[in-house]
Amino acid sequence: MISEKRGNILYLVVPCFNEEEIIEKSVQVLKEKVTRLIKESKVSHKSKIMFVNDGSKDKTLQLLHKVAKEDSMISVLSFTTNFGHQSAILAGMLASVDYADMVVTIDADLQQDIEALDDFIEAYQRGNEVVYGVRKDRHSDGFFKKFTATAYYKLLHFLGCDIITNHADYRLMSKKALLTLKEYKEVNLFMRGLVPTMGFPSDIVYFDVKEREAGSSKYTLKKMMKLAVDGITSLSIKPLRIITVIGLLSCLFGVGMAVYIFIDWLAGNTVPGYATSVMTTLTMDGITLLSMGIIGEYIGKIYMEAKGRPRYIIESFLWNEGDSND
Ligand code: UDP
Ligand code: MG
Repeated sequence: MISEKRGNILYLVVPCFNEEEIIEKSVQVLKEKVTRLIKESKVSHKSKIMFVNDGSKDKTLQLLHKVAKEDSMISVLSFTTNFGHQSAILAGMLASVDYADMVVTIDADLQQDIEALDDFIEAYQRGNEVVYGVRKDRHSDGFFKKFTATAYYKLLHFLGCDIITNHADYRLMSKKALLTLKEYKEVNLFMRGLVPTMGFPSDIVYFDVKEREAGSSKYTLKKMMKLAVDGITSLSIKPLRIITVIGLLSCLFGVGMAVYIFIDWLAGNTVPGYATSVMTTLTMDGITLLSMGIIGEYIGKIYMEAKGRPRYIIESFLWNEGDSND
């Protein structure tokens, strides 16, 4: 049931890092889609597309500036250096919040089906403040990504995180939700985990994922691992509790062993037990080091938060006032 129509200025926020192979096509496809939505009166003629250049080292920025100079629908925000995907979408959303009624974040590589936008907008018009894009399947992923992604979502659920399986950062947020996001000052941002904790009325839209048409994934293994660890540490302190429990259990095991050895000694048995003690030492050392590593991760995060450095630095912002030409 669609009641009174809500404000419908749409901003698409598109993070780009070294996307020169696809960026022109991306501009064209996204622009065509927004133009169509304007014609169908689904979104306002004030709707725009904001590209966020995340410190690309190739020609992405030049190509974007070229189109933005001639096209009032396109604006370009550019970072001084690479601050990462999460920072890029955050910057785009925060730069749009004063103008847009709703913002959709979408990757520059056109892997996420742009036609799902109609469903996003419809869900927004039904009164949802957040709409999550969830991929229908993972057939476009390789075995490694499929396996690690599935395991990761399971792990996050186990740690008690309110995360939506197979939702990445294809997401609509209303002005109301964005104004709330603006209040979150943390440096360690994991958007897909944070947004559900806000508790706004939300819905899910399922979409198809395509193969990348040009260029390669900008998520290196290192970046993926950083995102994974950031995700856990920004959402949950359960790993620290698990360490406590493991510590407690190994203490109990130690006491049990001591009693056993004492009884054995009373019985007159002197066992060499070389293998046992080496294995116990190695296992315990391993657990200790792992635990210290986990604690270290959190201390590192506290350190970064305590410094409170800017989450990104904007070098330039090419912004076109006025309506988007249709
Ligand atoms: N991206 C970014 N900064 C980065 C890495 C990626 O802005 O440091 C952008 C990238 O240009 C793309 C989106 O984030 O628009 C998703 O990246 P990609 O498609 O390479 O990831 P994948 O789909 O392989 O997970
Ligand atoms: Mg991609």
